[in-house]
Amino acid sequence: MENTKYAIGIDLGGTFIKFALVSEAGEILFSSKLSIGSSAKREDILETMHKAIQLTLESASKNGVSVSGIGIGSPGVCCDGIVVGGADNLDRWADLNLSKIYSEAYNLPVLIDNDANVMGLGEAVFGAAQDCTDVIFLTVGTGIGGAIVADGKLYGGYKNRGTEMGHVTIDHKGIDCNCGGRGCLEAYASTNALIAQYAQRSGKNEDDINGHYIVEKFLEGEAAAVECMQEHTDYLGHGIAGFINTFAPQKVVIGGGISEAGQFYIDMIKKSALGYAMPDCAANTDVVGATLGNQAGCLGAASLIFRNC
Ligand SMILES: [Zn+2]
Repeated sequence: MENTKYAIGIDLGGTFIKFALVSEAGEILFSSKLSIGSSAKREDILETMHKAIQLTLESASKNGVSVSGIGIGSPGVCCDGIVVGGADNLDRWADLNLSKIYSEAYNLPVLIDNDANVMGLGEAVFGAAQDCTDVIFLTVGTGIGGAIVADGKLYGGYKNRGTEMGHVTIDHKGIDCNCGGRGCLEAYASTNALIAQYAQRSGKNEDDINGHYIVEKFLEGEAAAVECMQEHTDYLGHGIAGFINTFAPQKVVIGGGISEAGQFYIDMIKKSALGYAMPDCAANTDVVGATLGNQAGCLGAASLIFRNC
């Protein structure tokens, strides 16, 4: 017990702050969440994070363990402890030295990284890609986010500005993307894109449809749902094949709400991805579903401390 390290993992989302006390073995001793509302001011978000840290430190003290550091997953581009920018959903979430604010307040090391990156790290350390050194993580939701773990470490490019996995082009003359580019994977293969395509093909109202509904219709064998799911997983396979050819990962981990639809969903993506990838690059690659669900963020944030402190 004495030699086990513990860390606080914080997962900052658009409306909630999730936080946990995590052991080096991935055991969660305490976890909770606090609402920040959708229009919270920067000061309020920072204050709520203080509260989250204090609650977790209280739990650590009750459990008789000491905390080695605080890991934070935040939306946006994060570099050297600072949120540089790119977190459009949070109030003035730019040029913000989170590491300094909280390390000074608690006299603990504070490490931060992008939210999708820490989820990917969580899966690589404690989840679906445990014991793998080279992992591609994709989260399929309203958009497509992702992370690259290369040689056991998060890889983010120079100044950690890269790994926007949803924004590789799969159709150079394709539809406009939210990022300002055109024909991006996200514009074709996010859950939102799947819903839009299904609405168009089935003639149903987009507001009445969600990913779960399309999965249900797919399993019933409805033609429009089958076509859309095949197309959706085929788009994902194209994008993933490019990542396999570039990084030769041991595992490609698929997360996000729709990844929990069932093994059939992962199997369809796998068939497509391995069908398009170069066989020599994919020789050691498997495509699997994420296993940590909504705990990936806190576990991954805590592993920033275990891996780097
Ligand atoms: Zn894009």
